[in-house]
Amino acid sequence: MILSFDDALDGPLEWRDEISGLAAEIERSDLLEIGTVEASGELRAVDGGFLLDGSLEYDQSLACARCLEPALERIVETFEVFLVRRAPRIGDGAQRGDGSDRNPDHEEYDDELELEADDLSVVAVQGDEVDTRDFVVEQVVLNLPTRALCRKDCAGLCPTCGADRNRVACGCEPAGDPRWGALAALRAPSEH
Ligand SMILES: [Zn+2]
Ligand SMILES: [Zn+2]
Repeated sequence: MILSFDDALDGPLEWRDEISGLAAEIERSDLLEIGTVEASGELRAVDGGFLLDGSLEYDQSLACARCLEPALERIVETFEVFLVRRAPRIGDGAQRGDGSDRNPDHEEYDDELELEADDLSVVAVQGDEVDTRDFVVEQVVLNLPTRALCRKDCAGLCPTCGADRNRVACGCEPAGDPRWGALAALRAPSEH
């Protein structure tokens, strides 16, 4: 939802976003699906800027890193960011377009903000409005695990026959101590 900073100066603004089909926007090969993201929160003026907070709720599904079956998770998350309006200045020239909030020209300005904002993430917003959707999408990306597992003890696929060992006992026996099976399989070709 697009919110106006000027409106927020008159009193806190409530916002709500409902975003579908996000998986197509996020480039990640093991991402299967992101359910409709329901997000809502508030934008309010505070000393030195604006505070944007929100909570979001949705289902995500990634391919399990071991067995490739969908690993489903219900995500319930909150976030809070400190926003500062950054007015375009004379001499700024063309926008750098790299998303950097740390333009060296504004060093003094930024230091001041960091002190005020403490450990909150500070985001400089150019213009009179803020689109809460950007922050919701960012949160969804941040919530993705580096490596998804359908369950902690997922047995994965058999390296010999490809069977899903969570479902079937394929009977392929690793040689020797089963705990060293994978290692032995890696060594075998060079030793013989
Ligand atoms: Zn799995
Ligand atoms: Zn097998």
